[in-house]
Order: sequence, then structure tokens, then C-alpha cells
Amino acid sequence: MLPWVYYEKLAKLAVRKGVNVQKDQPVVISACVRDAAFVRLLVKEAYEAGARYVEVNWSDVELTRMDYTYQSLETLQDVPQWLYDRRKTDNEAGACYLTVRSDAPGALDGLDPEKIHAVNVAVSRKMRPLRNYTMNNEGQWCIFGLPSVEWAVKIFPDLPAQEAFDKLEEAIFAVSRVTADGNPIAAWDEHDSNLMGYGKKLTDRQFTALHFTSGLGTDITVGLVKDHIWVGGGCFTPKGVYFDPNIPTEECFCMPEKTGTNGIVYASKPLSYQGRVIENFWLRFENGKVVDFGAEKEVDTLRKLVEFDEGSSYLGEVALVPYDSPVSRSGILFFNTLYDENAACHLALGACYPENLRGGTEMSEEELAAHGANNSMTHCDFMFGTADMDIDGILPDGTRVPVFRKGNYVI
Ligand code: ZN
Ligand code: ZN
Repeated sequence: MLPWVYYEKLAKLAVRKGVNVQKDQPVVISACVRDAAFVRLLVKEAYEAGARYVEVNWSDVELTRMDYTYQSLETLQDVPQWLYDRRKTDNEAGACYLTVRSDAPGALDGLDPEKIHAVNVAVSRKMRPLRNYTMNNEGQWCIFGLPSVEWAVKIFPDLPAQEAFDKLEEAIFAVSRVTADGNPIAAWDEHDSNLMGYGKKLTDRQFTALHFTSGLGTDITVGLVKDHIWVGGGCFTPKGVYFDPNIPTEECFCMPEKTGTNGIVYASKPLSYQGRVIENFWLRFENGKVVDFGAEKEVDTLRKLVEFDEGSSYLGEVALVPYDSPVSRSGILFFNTLYDENAACHLALGACYPENLRGGTEMSEEELAAHGANNSMTHCDFMFGTADMDIDGILPDGTRVPVFRKGNYVI
């Protein structure tokens, strides 16, 4: 295990840079009981940053498994009102949200997938009115990961548990830019400004579409909404508080025009969805909608995603990630989207981010839809970037501008 000072630095990074806690702001932390020692560091750091109060929502995957095993579907689907009210109260108090992830991929394997799916739909439906708070960056939020033995042995099944943990731990701190002697906050300031630079260049061009090709067979044109904004690095709340919602982040992302995607995309990495791993899959789009798909493994799980609701068969995000990113260079498949999406260019089925449209965060759902934004109760990223990926930006007059060559920016 790495010295504790790494964990202290990570806690500081998450509180000061991740959510950027403001004086007198409530902080809500979601974490697993296995990470209790680390969560105490987070809570202390949050109070030192001026938090009014810090609330921790504990979870435990073994207890979750028992709930799914012993509770009836009706009970599980009956999302309690107090859960809704608590979140609403925190939103109204202007809270920021920190989520610590350390669960193993496939932690719900062996349970009834129909039950898990039905419960996910019920929870999404109930909490939907409250989702805009984070989806629109009304308040700060940040998701980041911590290594766990359970997770490590899934990634490195051939290694002894301790060795696997050490490898995952080293990788997580490296891609989070937390080192023994460096200053992670300064490193993130620089990283953010690089990403914002690419975001600005892309936004200034206002491409009508991007055309992606790769040796895997991907040949897809993704239309972009008019007046789009490429977002990279951190975000601002309406009050002007700067924060980094994901640690790590390597992407610049934008909003596809709902009906503007045509062609075929081949995933370049497996996708972990609802505790299952979908492998070697492809999707074919016509006028924005998935019209055909296939997978070597878990095609039924892929179907559940595509058919989750009306919007989950359309794109809500297109994101550029250089093949030379630290996550990509680590060569590790984390089986966790937070990391894996930063290893490669990705697309997301489902809801868009209104911040990717000029004035979008102030628009109603109807106005957003009129601008070509997709809406859904889900948002699921999948990776399709490769070392040989080429991307052309297409200007309104049809001119093509090279954006990526061989997996990296040339713009
Ligand atoms: Zn993304
Ligand atoms: Zn996404």
C-alpha cells in the first residue's frame, strides 16, 4: 500500500478542486463502508474548507445484494419519499456532492438482472426532477475512485490479491495526478487549462459534424447541434464556482444533434452495464437512432440499454480523448466508466448535457428538444477510440478539417 500521504492529497484534491467546497456550503458524500478511514479524511478536509455540515450516505455492496435477494420487486420499486425529500432538501440548501467509487465491476453478478433493471428504472423515475441539479451543474459535484482489493482482483485475476491491489492503487493515483512530491492541485490547474484550450478551439470552429473512422470498422458521422459548446476540464456553476466533476478527466465533450448521426460504430473496449460486461459490440445509426446492433457477449444487456427508454437509442454525448492520455497509457481496463472513458474517444447513449448548448442550462426540456438535444432517464458512455482513429471536422460549406490523426489531436 502507498503511504497515507497519497490519500491525504487525494482527499484534499477532491474537496478543494473536485467539488471546490465554498464557505458555509453543505457537503454530501456517498461512499462505501470499506473506505471509512478515507472518508474521515474527506469530511475533515471539507470542514476545514468551510463546509456548514457534511452528510455521508454509506453503502455496502453485500447489503445491497441482500436487499435484492430478500426484498420483493414491489418493495424494491417503491422508492421511499424520504429519500427524495432528503435529496431535495440538500439541493435546496445548495449542497455539493462527492461520490467515492471503489466497488468491483460485476458486484451484482448472479442476481436477477430483470429485478436490477426494474429497480434502476423506478429509482431514475422517482429522482428525475432532482437530477438537473447535477446534470446542469447548478451545484458542484465530483466522482472519483479509490482502489479496493475486490476491484483489483477483477482487473488482475492472475495476481495475488495484495499485488493486484498495489497495481490498481498505483494506477489510480497516477491517473488522478497525485504523486508523493508533486502538488496535485497545481497539476490539475495546468491540466484543466490545456483541456479548456482544446475546448475553445473546437467551439470556435462550430463544425456541423465530425466524421470518425478506425481500423475496427467504425465509419460514423456525428452531427452536432448549432451553437454547441465543447467542454473540457472543469465547469462553472451559475454562481461562478469552478469545479472538476470527474477525477480523472481527459475528455472534451459536446452535444450530438439528436437526428444527425449516421453510420456504424465499433466499441473498442468492453462496457460494464448494470453489473454485466458487454463485449465486442457495434451499433448502427440512421438519422440519429440505433437501428441495429450486435455483441459477442451480453447482447441482451446491450438491448436493455438501447431499449431503456425512447432517448436511450439516440446519442447524448460525443467526447474526444487523445490516445496518449495517462489512462490510455496505463494500458489497464478498469471496468469502470469513470476511468475507461478517459482512455478513448467515446459516445453516450441517452441524456445530453445542456451545458454543451449555448444558453442550454436555462432552457426548458421542450426548448432543448427543439434545438436537437436528446433526453433520457439514462446516460451511458461506451468507448470506440483507437490508436488509429482519424477524425475530420466538417464545416457548414462541406470543407473537412483534420481534428485527430492516429488517435491524437492535430488541431
Ligand atoms: Zn464523457
Ligand atoms: Zn458521458
